[in-house]
Amino acid sequence: MKRVLITGAAGFLGSHLCDKFIKEGYHVIGMDNLLTGSLSNIEHLFPLKQFEYYHCDVSKFVHVPGELDYILHFASPASPIDYLKMPIQTLKVGSLGTHNLLGLAKAKSARILVASTSEVYGDPLVHPQTEEYWGNVNPIGPRGVYDEAKRFQEAITMAYHTFHGLETRIVRIFNTYGPRMRVNDGRALPAFFSQAIRNEDITVFGDGSQTRSFCYVSDLVEGIYRLLLSDYHLPVNIGNPVEITIKEIAEEVLRYVPGSTSKIIHVDLPKDDPKKRRPDITKAKELLNWEPNIDRQAGLDVTFEYFKEVLS
Ligand code: NAD
Ligand code: UDP
Repeated sequence: MKRVLITGAAGFLGSHLCDKFIKEGYHVIGMDNLLTGSLSNIEHLFPLKQFEYYHCDVSKFVHVPGELDYILHFASPASPIDYLKMPIQTLKVGSLGTHNLLGLAKAKSARILVASTSEVYGDPLVHPQTEEYWGNVNPIGPRGVYDEAKRFQEAITMAYHTFHGLETRIVRIFNTYGPRMRVNDGRALPAFFSQAIRNEDITVFGDGSQTRSFCYVSDLVEGIYRLLLSDYHLPVNIGNPVEITIKEIAEEVLRYVPGSTSKIIHVDLPKDDPKKRRPDITKAKELLNWEPNIDRQAGLDVTFEYFKEVLS
């Protein structure tokens, strides 16, 4: 049985990755420090003998007994309000945490995949974003703590590949949504669904003309799984290229709750909020034979049911 370590296991994406690898027949070691995650996301795995959980801050030191075939480094605050509240932890987990996990991968001769982000493109001047684009990031702006940590993560991962011959994979993840997102993590979909269900004002930042491209979580997980097992070490965008304005998605969410008395209001746009974002997924299509197959309606249906249940 192959053994995989997943950091950030108690978070949104990490917990879905744990489920995927268990389903594919792996022994999964989940690791987290519960900074933004919750054990409720993985407690259904605790009875399984193929699953272990280690409580650990990966920015300090990482120790795992026994062999490892694969490491997926997903630990990091990921929503803007989280990384604005925890700038130092965010910088540390992307830099020191990544260094610790690369060292572990080297010691165990394991292949490592690191979770990078569309934020490495910053407020992009190229649209849609291809992997060749170097980005437009403000290093000292409020989002810089996340963006630059992830850019450093990519740089040190490439250095371990080049200088130590480590098998590395880099996934650039675009906005992903689905069950197990934290209701109050401040990201657009949890915010809009919880506001609509609670009859609160729906807070569209700015005029809402900024765009995002939302990928359903099961599609993302499949893309990551294929990338890990591929032989490609350069960054690959994984995301859904269907682009929508934030105002439009707020209206779509509101239609899920017909009796809601919520109204869309406009509040200040956060500094450096990217104006446009859409992945070019040509590489993922060609190299991994991957493209998303859950359309927004289907993904939002499941996500709405989840938030309704959590908030009931
Ligand atoms: P999340 O906040 O739900 O999960 C992150 C997990 O990491 C949490 O369980 C948290 O407790 C844990 N963690 C944070 N710091 C840690 C540390 N020092 N040691 C151990 N555990 C730690 O976020 P998510 O949306 O699941 O994101 C997971 C990863 O994917 C992150 O690296 C994020 O940057 C990346 N990503 C996510 C998205 C997205 O749309 N969700 C987009 C781009 C990139
Ligand atoms: N947004 C919004 N209202 C909210 C939360 C987010 O209008 O309550 C906007 C935000 O300004 C951004 C987009 O929705 O333009 C996506 O934000 P999110 O935090 O989900 O992810 P980002 O892509 O900015 O990391």
